[in-house]
Amino acid sequence: MTIFQAPKGTYDLIPPDSAKYLAVREAIAAPLRNSGYGYVETPGFENVELFARGVGESTDIVTKEMYAFETKGGDRLALRPEGTASVLRAALEANLHKSGNLPVKLWYSGSYYRYERPQKGRYRHFSQVGAEAIGAEDPALDTELIVLADQAYRSLGLSGFRILLNSLGDRECRPVYREALQGFLRGLDLDEDTRRRVDINPLRVLDDKRESVRKQLVGAPLLRDHLCDACKAYHEEVRELLTAASVPFEDDERLVRGLDYYTRTTFEFVHDGLGSQSAVGGGGRYDGLSEMIGGPALPSVGWALGVDRTVLALEAEGIALELPASTSVFAVPLGEEARRALFAVVTGLRRAGVAADFSYGGKGLKGAMKSANRSGARYALVAGERDLADGVLQLKDMESGEQAPVALDSAVEEIRARLA
Ligand code: AMP
Repeated sequence: MTIFQAPKGTYDLIPPDSAKYLAVREAIAAPLRNSGYGYVETPGFENVELFARGVGESTDIVTKEMYAFETKGGDRLALRPEGTASVLRAALEANLHKSGNLPVKLWYSGSYYRYERPQKGRYRHFSQVGAEAIGAEDPALDTELIVLADQAYRSLGLSGFRILLNSLGDRECRPVYREALQGFLRGLDLDEDTRRRVDINPLRVLDDKRESVRKQLVGAPLLRDHLCDACKAYHEEVRELLTAASVPFEDDERLVRGLDYYTRTTFEFVHDGLGSQSAVGGGGRYDGLSEMIGGPALPSVGWALGVDRTVLALEAEGIALELPASTSVFAVPLGEEARRALFAVVTGLRRAGVAADFSYGGKGLKGAMKSANRSGARYALVAGERDLADGVLQLKDMESGEQAPVALDSAVEEIRARLA
């Protein structure tokens, strides 16, 4: 029988590489935890309508990429393609917005699903860490989120990324711009699909990557020239606060992003070492989303950073994370009596917070020492019958090869002290 393989567009995280993913998630979460964001976890699937209304009926995510299905009970659900709609739904459902303590600041980490054409950096099952600040309109809040993402990437040692920044306007000025853009786009030579997009979501046409479309977009009206005074002032404040925080950014008037809910501040983190899938993270303000999914007006802002692409960015920059050693002490028992004694010591070490492992399966000295080597342990703890008779264990430094006896009775304390 052939063995099963992971479905197309998915992959398994396996040691030792999997440790990098954990470290990246942790590094992204750390600045959030430190800035008033509380952890939120939502289901892996939701009512399909939440995404249709929230993310947008005309987006690729909803029309082409969503894993939607009907349950035996007749519910229409979808695997979550992104986090924001779910998190906002959860906050509304729990009435967090009525706590009198706005903004509600939440962070999350999880798996997301999009039926995309797989390639390096683009998967059907991928991992994001995200943050949402719900219920406040304040340029400092938009800035906070960008600064925290920048801090997260820098804490990992990354430097080859850029922050692209734009404003998408609000319900005042965007419709006026939309019409001007539609007028321009209708004069171009476009295929039927794109012409339909011009009617439903003309801003998205600006994001078209095809050269045949791109070259016609030169001279398209820019949202920048249509922003109302309030949006202009808001955007200017975000730019100034970012500058004051020493976070460099680039103005990108064509940045629109693939989700419909964004208003005003929109940003993307791109990494130049990643080829075509260069966006490592992105986000923005979504002042209208709450109302779109049936809630009250709750101006909000958030981002999601891709864990998979952040790991690729680390590899592109040749950064090896300093990961904590998974095992400090590896126990090698020689004989039945030593097995019991060492097992007790390993248990004691673990209870004392020392990472310890044990040679299982009755291996001989050679095989067990090989395991000790592979574990990356700092010390091997070896004992045979004679050692036990003398009331000692042999502690071998795996780097220098030096070996010294430690008293069985005080082994845990002594080893702990040496490691400290
Ligand atoms: P989005 O939710 O589309 O704004 O994406 C936010 C971030 O998630 C992107 O910048 C990517 O880093 C990551 N991402 C989105 N889609 C995928 C995917 N199919 N595979 C891997 N990472 C993804």
